[in-house]
Amino acid sequence: MDSSVGPAKAAAPTAGDVAREVNAQIRAIAESLAANGEEDDEENYTFFCECGCLHTVTLTLADFLVARAAFVAGHKTAAPR
Ligand SMILES: [Zn+2]
Repeated sequence: MDSSVGPAKAAAPTAGDVAREVNAQIRAIAESLAANGEEDDEENYTFFCECGCLHTVTLTLADFLVARAAFVAGHKTAAPR
């Protein structure tokens, strides 16, 4: 990892935290588009892998709502159920 960007702080969000926040924003936008009838929930959106690798994941809103998260295939760590 490149640690030269700014001082390291314990409170700094991890890449996974940022991905979850961005995905929540994308979900909110997708839901408002769906609510307006501009897009249906089969429309594909680009989410970010929440493991922190920040690779992109293409999911429909419906898929994201079912999974409640976005991960590149194989990146998801054991999910508590
Ligand atoms: Zn990942």
